[in-house]
Amino acid sequence: MGDTTKIVILGGGYAGVEAAKLLNKQYKKNQNVSITLIDKNPYHTLMTELHEIAGSRTEPEAVQVSFKRIFSGTKVNVVIDEIEAIDFPDNKLKSKVAEYPYDYLVLSTGGHPEFFGIDGIQANSFTLWSLEDAIRIREHVELMFRAAAKEPHENHRRKQLTFVVAGAGFTGIELVGELMERADTLCRKYHIDRDEVKIMVVEAQDRVLPILSEKPQRKAKEYMEKNGVEILLNAPIVKGESNGAYTLKDGRVIETDTFVWTCGIQGSEFTAKIDLTKGRKSNDNCSIATPEGIHGMSGCHFDEDERDIVGERGRILVSGEMQSVDYKNVYLAGDMIWYLHQEKVVAQIVENALQTAEVAVHNIVAEIEEKKEKKIYVPNYHGFMVSIGGRYGVASVMGMNLYGFFAMALKHFINLHYLWGLAGFNACWNYLQEEFFQIKNKRSILGGHVAAKVPAYWVLPARLWLGLMWVIEGANKIGEGWLRGDRSRSGWMFSSKTLQRGMPGYGESEVAQVVSAATDAAWTDVGTAASGTVVEPIADAVTAATDSVTDAAYVAADAVAAASEWVEESVPVAGEVLKKYWDLDASIFQWDSALVTWFRTTFMDNLAAHLHFSLFQWSIVLVEIALGLALMGGLFTWGAAVATIGMTVVFTLSGMFTWNQLWFVFLAIVMMGGAGHVAGLDHWVMPWIKDRWNTTKLAQRTYLYSGEPIIKKKKK
Ligand SMILES: Cc1cc2nc3c(=O)[nH]c(=O)nc-3n(C[C@H](O)[C@H](O)[C@H](O)COP(=O)(O)OP(=O)(O)OC[C@H]3O[C@@H](n4cnc5c(N)ncnc54)[C@H](O)[C@@H]3O)c2cc1C
Repeated sequence: MGDTTKIVILGGGYAGVEAAKLLNKQYKKNQNVSITLIDKNPYHTLMTELHEIAGSRTEPEAVQVSFKRIFSGTKVNVVIDEIEAIDFPDNKLKSKVAEYPYDYLVLSTGGHPEFFGIDGIQANSFTLWSLEDAIRIREHVELMFRAAAKEPHENHRRKQLTFVVAGAGFTGIELVGELMERADTLCRKYHIDRDEVKIMVVEAQDRVLPILSEKPQRKAKEYMEKNGVEILLNAPIVKGESNGAYTLKDGRVIETDTFVWTCGIQGSEFTAKIDLTKGRKSNDNCSIATPEGIHGMSGCHFDEDERDIVGERGRILVSGEMQSVDYKNVYLAGDMIWYLHQEKVVAQIVENALQTAEVAVHNIVAEIEEKKEKKIYVPNYHGFMVSIGGRYGVASVMGMNLYGFFAMALKHFINLHYLWGLAGFNACWNYLQEEFFQIKNKRSILGGHVAAKVPAYWVLPARLWLGLMWVIEGANKIGEGWLRGDRSRSGWMFSSKTLQRGMPGYGESEVAQVVSAATDAAWTDVGTAASGTVVEPIADAVTAATDSVTDAAYVAADAVAAASEWVEESVPVAGEVLKKYWDLDASIFQWDSALVTWFRTTFMDNLAAHLHFSLFQWSIVLVEIALGLALMGGLFTWGAAVATIGMTVVFTLSGMFTWNQLWFVFLAIVMMGGAGHVAGLDHWVMPWIKDRWNTTKLAQRTYLYSGEPIIKKKKK
């Protein structure tokens, strides 16, 4: 080893990313260790959500999290390249264009569909094991509906509208759920009768979702059948043909133009290219690694009758430390490993990927630092959640079964938890957008309720109005003499005996004595000078303007009063009841209520003791006018909306805010959805700020960038 210990991770799936993150945590500040992650794609694929892309529930971007996002602000060096071979004796990975030396290697290149050598299946099936696979299914399904819509030949049309998924594991069932939902949309789009569409699950075993317990299995089956899915159990497939005929063991033939194979997983394609010992299923389990150690390879007898389930792309044999049995500096994790626990090979699931990565990293660190004890992998799975479309799911989690809304909610929660660790708020926000706020055709547990959008141009008048109201509020306060230093209505916010800084008698209270008399005098001078020379003329002008607005408002109010008289006469009971029980002109919380008293004495009186009242009044007026102008100009609209809500909360807790002013809050909420981007400065300013913010280390470290982080290359 040279001065720097080079750790290379091949494969940025669940296992690889977890390994890189853990290593980064360990060696963030250690210049003697370098961490490189190599993947053929520039993004991490959320494999567990691929069915959503295949079924067109979400967009392809939903399952791609760029490595830039994940590793911005870390010391992990990400290389995008496809590795073609590994020279283990020489410690080098090789691609078409480069070689990558390593001291320690973590291999995590995932899995790949297993076809068990069944005649014609590999050549005539779709698979669902990569983003490309998912997009292929998505496009093909639409093509079939488009073709069927104008297909006059009945047999052809039937084949086009028959969709067969082989395998009732979670990949198969999740795909069926999506196809089921999508068929409804595509039937409407292409004017096809839903009864013509046939969706089938074909499974060799006697049940669906064998990984779950009995009740969720039954519920899942019932739900699919209720939605028209035909489920064939005990129906192994023995042959596939290029004309779309698939033969079952009992001789039945299914004809379809869409056959998706989800029946098994082996090691990734890459495992065929590397010279490491594969795990093999033998009659006496003689070639296995267990927590007790690796059992000898020599003298093993493989039963000729028993199918060798691995072939050349078999999963790679590892020890309990997740170490290759061939090279001690090579560790493995995720779907590609062959490891027996309680005499069963470990499952190819996310929890296995994360836990094996953690063990591999622990043991690499133990070797480098020569002080830690090595760890042995003991799988600890918490449960499984399976979605059947966007609105229903089943789950078995820690001995508990869940169905429908709750199972789906849990699945979303677990995904969010994973994404939070992956790329923080940014990744979670994207997920929520894709799964809820931008969902099409009501395909989420919240239906389409949070997905409906109001175009920003409809909101423009409301934004201008809210802004104008703030300006008028500020102007009114000037008219009331706030800038002259009168006590005016700001006294409302403080206890009656509280002396604000700057008032006659202030300085005698205990709190106020702490503050120096010099500053007090200075504030008074500033207040008086400013109000005398600058503010009074402005205030007069604003008062005059406000008066004319008020006059106009009186005329309007008279008209409204006449109308409401008529309404009140027509609906006397409702009017009286409303007035009696809900006076909209009254404060939401009264000045002497417990909450307002608490707020006033805890916060406002203290503020009054430390802040000169002129400054306080000036600040309120300026903030109100600034908020108004920002909203009217559409500049920093989101921030102005949040500040509006903040101000109204303070006013409400001060007993100043009435029920009929609450519209300020509701309108501010509406403003938060991008209202400043129509005829507003945000249209230009926000992208400019985002670009600059995205380059900062702080944004990258906290994952609080907007969209993709911008990583500047270091000058050499
Ligand atoms: C549709 C579907 C649904 C699933 N649902 C669930 C579920 O609900 N729960 C669950 O626990 N599991 C689920 N799984 C299984 C789960 O996705 C896998 O167990 C998991 O992805 C394994 O992680 P991994 O890191 O080993 O491999 P992967 O996530 O497959 O990552 C392998 C990485 O290696 C890279 N790579 C491969 N070869 C090379 C090369 N030669 N050079 C460079 N890079 C390379 C790939 O680009 C990829 O990024 C599902 C899988 C699918 C397909």
